[in-house]
Amino acid sequence: MQENQFSARVLGLANLGLIVIDARQHIVLWNQWMASRSGKSAHRVLGQDLFDLYGELRGQRLEQAVLSAMQSKLPQTLSPSLNPSPFPLYPAGSWGGERVEQAVSVTPFNEGKERYCLIEVSDISAIVGRERQLRSQAEALRAQSYVDGLTGIANRRHFDVALDRELRRAMRNEGQLSLLLMDIDSFKAYNDHFGHQQGDACLTLVAEAFASMLQRPADLAARYGGEEFAAVLPDTSLEQAERHAEAIRAKIASLGITHAPAATRPHVTMSIGVATFDKERLNDAAAMLAAADSCLYAAKKAGRDCVIVHRQQQENAA
Ligand code: GH3
Ligand code: MG
Ligand code: MG
Repeated sequence: MQENQFSARVLGLANLGLIVIDARQHIVLWNQWMASRSGKSAHRVLGQDLFDLYGELRGQRLEQAVLSAMQSKLPQTLSPSLNPSPFPLYPAGSWGGERVEQAVSVTPFNEGKERYCLIEVSDISAIVGRERQLRSQAEALRAQSYVDGLTGIANRRHFDVALDRELRRAMRNEGQLSLLLMDIDSFKAYNDHFGHQQGDACLTLVAEAFASMLQRPADLAARYGGEEFAAVLPDTSLEQAERHAEAIRAKIASLGITHAPAATRPHVTMSIGVATFDKERLNDAAAMLAAADSCLYAAKKAGRDCVIVHRQQQENAA
């Protein structure tokens, strides 16, 4: 096989688009890959000005790259994210539909006295598609990671984000914001008596009942830790939060889940601490959590299965 034939064969087999233009930007080489994706055969385009053939490329990044490559004699690469599909190319054999996404590079060279530019076009649709798929999978995973795996309600991370966001909103709007921290009473005894698996089932029942008590879209019911739950209640005063907490406590008790003999009640119960945002003192997450937690501790000391709110505690202390 002669060298020319050999090169032509290789150009025909190449799995990327190869275009060569001369100094006047006239096409002198157009390989089979370009023909099958552009619908324009080599003999139709050879000798034509590339930017007449594709008027839409005039003034665009590709034309600038060609001009500057010719001038500087340095290769240029088009960023695929800025120029995803410069040529109107479609998957071979399918006319119309989506353009293939392209990575384009421009390489100037001299042959004798003549200057030329090699333009290489590769189809990166598959890579871009895979990237998109990975990104959307990552997003789905991120969404999942805001959910507690056992109970299906919001997890601690989601709670932290929600509390922080609602605190900032309350600060801005001088709004009200309440926080409930709750803990299942004598849950260690439950596990010891019924086993860990039934303990998990109990946690799920309690979580579902608790979450069903929060009706407003901005309310958040979360699993805070092992057998501890938390609620973020925007636009809710201390009195309203106390009523909510009392209703949740009563709801959990009314489930009538049989408790271990060692527990204080024959059925599963919860103790709840309540704190409300205060611009002066309880104005960050740590302070609100500490206030709610100290009320929860007080509720445990007061015999469990009860609600204690932060104001009461202050009054008690006074
Ligand atoms: P108190 O009334 O003072 O809250 O007593 P308690 O027994 O509930 O408190 P303690 O903190 O001593 O025990 C909590 C128990 O919760 C111990 C732990 O085994 C159990 N627990 C924490 N997370 C899980 C979980 O995911 N599944 C199960 N089954 N049990 C858990
Ligand atoms: Mg606990
Ligand atoms: Mg407990």
